Amino acid sequence: MKAWVLGGPDELRLVEKPVPRPGAAEVLVRIGATAVCGTDLEVIHHGPPALIQGGLPFNKNFTPGHEYMGTVAQLGPGVDEFDVGDRVAVEIHAGCGRCERCREGMYTACINYGMNYGDRDKGHRANGFTTDGGFAEYAVNHVNTLVPVPRDMSDEDATLIVTAGTVIYGLDVLGGLVAGQSVVVTGPGAIGLMGVGVAKALGASPVVLTGTERDRRRLEIGRKLGADEVVDVSREEVVAAVMRITRGRGAHYVLECSGAPNALNDAAHMVSRGGRICLVAFPHAPVPVDVAHLVSNNIYVFGIRGEGRSATRRAAALMAQKRFPAKLLHTHSFPLEEVPTAIRYAAERIEDAIKVVVRMR
Ligand SMILES: [Zn+2]
Ligand SMILES: [Zn+2]
Repeated sequence: MKAWVLGGPDELRLVEKPVPRPGAAEVLVRIGATAVCGTDLEVIHHGPPALIQGGLPFNKNFTPGHEYMGTVAQLGPGVDEFDVGDRVAVEIHAGCGRCERCREGMYTACINYGMNYGDRDKGHRANGFTTDGGFAEYAVNHVNTLVPVPRDMSDEDATLIVTAGTVIYGLDVLGGLVAGQSVVVTGPGAIGLMGVGVAKALGASPVVLTGTERDRRRLEIGRKLGADEVVDVSREEVVAAVMRITRGRGAHYVLECSGAPNALNDAAHMVSRGGRICLVAFPHAPVPVDVAHLVSNNIYVFGIRGEGRSATRRAAALMAQKRFPAKLLHTHSFPLEEVPTAIRYAAERIEDAIKVVVRMR
């Protein structure tokens, strides 16, 4: 099969690889489409969070790409949960299935992350991070990671199921969303925009989206996805804006999707006393945090990685109901041969790219 592999940093090569064989409880997926994610850019440029044979993923014949969908092409021994020909989206993390966190459904925080080699082989899998991923024609997936795709959903749109899964997991971790609770989403990237659509579909009110001047088009898309209010932080101070919108009470929840250095401090001043913040994005350098404000106001702060507790299944069900136009997130498609171009479009936001998708055929 054709597969892209990572050489040194920022060095991708299209090579021939053997088609992988599914083991027990696994299937072979013929990949239909793979979305480029911000984390792919991290992996290809810096290495982490990819972890191959205990180290950086460079020059190890490793295939990146983790947000993909496809068709079941072959069943491993004993698999009867799926049939050949079923269309599936995939969760990224299978985990190891044997550690405390995996047993709790927190397989994205698997304690045996990356341990799948040599005499420390705990069977951990997270395709595109610790095992081969989706910039290829085929991949092997554990049945636990497969989510059926609604018949009338396009391949490109199906790659967004996992994006919605991250948002749903974030809302789970916050304690669940009850209709009428207010949600502020900071940062209109793919996850932030998806956060708007999901929160609105689940009955949040109001839903507020924040972004900068540069995000003007994305803020417009946010409105179409259901944001009741959008705030351009280059025009209005963001905390003041949220206080104006919530009539001085502050929001119940903040989904922090910007990674801006002061985002946590801002979020802490946007939530009401006792409010909850979920950090989905993060700044690259350590930042000062006003801990006294968090503690004295009983503010809860959560960090999540990816999508645990089968959130992706609920995401697929919600997406199938078409209660918000998720397809607006998908802006560009490229063929498999043009993965480096797809990555450049995503990294440099060329033509205001949001979700760039690689199509296999
Ligand atoms: Zn991703
Ligand atoms: Zn585990």
